[in-house]
Amino acid sequence: MSLTARFSCLSDYDPDALSVEQARAFIRSQLTPVRTQERVALRSALGRVLASDVIAPFNVPAHDNSAMDGYALRQADLAGSGETRLRVIGTALAGKVFAGAVGTAECVRIMTGALPPAGCDTVVIQEVVELDGDQVIVPAGQRAGQNIRLAGEDLAAGKPALAAGRLIRPAELGLMASLGCAEVSVYRRLRVAFFSTGDELCSIGTPLADGEVYDSNRYTIFGMLTRLGCEVLDLGVVRDDPATLEAAFRAAAAAADVVITSGGVSVGEADFVKPLMAQLGEVLFWKIAMKPGRPMAFGRLGARGGGEGGDGGEGGDRHAAWLFGLPGNPVAVMAAFYQFVRDALQLLMGANPLPRVPLLPAVSRVAMKKAPGRTEFQRGILSHADGQWSVRPAGAQGSGVLRSMSDANCFIVLEHERGSVAVGDTVQVQLFDGLV
Ligand code: AMP
Ligand code: MG
Repeated sequence: MSLTARFSCLSDYDPDALSVEQARAFIRSQLTPVRTQERVALRSALGRVLASDVIAPFNVPAHDNSAMDGYALRQADLAGSGETRLRVIGTALAGKVFAGAVGTAECVRIMTGALPPAGCDTVVIQEVVELDGDQVIVPAGQRAGQNIRLAGEDLAAGKPALAAGRLIRPAELGLMASLGCAEVSVYRRLRVAFFSTGDELCSIGTPLADGEVYDSNRYTIFGMLTRLGCEVLDLGVVRDDPATLEAAFRAAAAAADVVITSGGVSVGEADFVKPLMAQLGEVLFWKIAMKPGRPMAFGRLGARGGGEGGDGGEGGDRHAAWLFGLPGNPVAVMAAFYQFVRDALQLLMGANPLPRVPLLPAVSRVAMKKAPGRTEFQRGILSHADGQWSVRPAGAQGSGVLRSMSDANCFIVLEHERGSVAVGDTVQVQLFDGLV
C-alpha cells in the first residue's frame, strides 16, 4: 500500500493539524532499519548500534574475589558469640594467588580484587578488626560470604551480555572490553544527504549580497547528524530553480538512505520544492500542530521496491531514500530535527526503541502565553536555586532566532492541551545534553 494510502487510513490524522505524537508515531510505523553489518575495532563502535548479541565467553568476574581490603577467613573458625583471635599467615594481593593453606584459627590479609585462599569464605573489612602482633581480633556479627564477589555475579558465561540493537555508549565499550572483545559487529552507518533551498541563501566564504542571508541550516544539520554518528553528505545550497532542484533531489536520493532539506515547504509557498518532492517520490505534507516547526514533509524519494526501508545493502540496489523536508527557519529546523528526525534516524540505525529523552518537571519563573491545540517548544534556561529547579525562556522565541537556541540548555515543552502558564506553575523540560 502506498504511503499516502496508509496515511489516509488513519481517519483521525489530519495533514493540516497533525499532533506531534501522531506525526512521530506515523513516521516510526513506516521505517525499517538498515541490516548491513560490519566488524569494527572496539573503540570505533562508540555511537554505533550492535548488530549481534554479545555473549559472555566466561564468567564476570572470572573468579570469586574480595570486594574490600581486609582479612579472609573461614566462617567456621569464628566464635558463635563474642570476638575471635586469628593468626595472620600471609597476604593475598589482586592478581597474585595466595597458594598456602589456611588452617584452623588462621586468616590471610586480603586486598580488593584478590582471590580468597582455598577454604576462606568470608572477608572482614580491615576497619573493624584490631591488630595484636601477628594476630587479628575479629568482632562478633560477621556474616558468612560477606565482602566476596562471586564468579559470574555480573555476567554468567554463555549468557548474552548485550543484545543486538543496543546503542554503544562508554559503558558498553567498557563492558565489551571486560569480555575481551577487540572487535564488534555493528550496523553500517546511515548515509544522510542534506541541502538547503532558497534564492536568498549564501554559503559562508562568499560576501553577502543585498537581501541575502548566510545559510546556517546546513551547519546545524551537519552538527546534529554528526553527533548521531551518521555519514553526512552536504549538497550545498540549491536555488529555487526546478531543474537544479530536481538534480539535487535525484543526486541525494541516489547517494543516501535519508535526505534532509530545509526551506520551501511553507504553507502556500509558491515555489518548486513541494511539487518536485511529490513528483520524485511519495511525500506527505504536514502542518504539524507545533511551534516552531509547523510545516514539514515526510516521505520517500525514488521508486519503492526491493530497497524498502532505504537499505539495499552495500550495492547500488537502493530504491528509495526517506525524505524529511524541514521548514526553513533555523530554529524550526532544529526543533523538527530533535522531535522527529533524530528518533527516526535512531530507528533506521537499528537501535532498539529508546525511551524518549525524559521530560523533567521544573517551576516556571515567568508567565507564558499559550493556546491549547498545539505543542510548543520554547528555548529555556533551566537552573537550580534554593533547592528547586526552575526554568525561564532563553530570550526571543522567534523561529529564526538561533541566539536563544544557543543560550538555552533545554526545551520547555508546553503540551498540546495546555493553556497559558502562570508564574510558579510546573512545566516539563527536555534537557539538551544527556550525560552519556
Ligand atoms: P522558507 O521555509 O523557505 O520560506 O524559509 C523560511 C525562513 O527561513 C526565511 O526567512 C528564510 O530566509 C529562512 N531560511 C531558509 N533556509 C535557511 C537557511 N538554510 N539558513 C538560514 N535561514 C534560512
Ligand atoms: Mg524558501
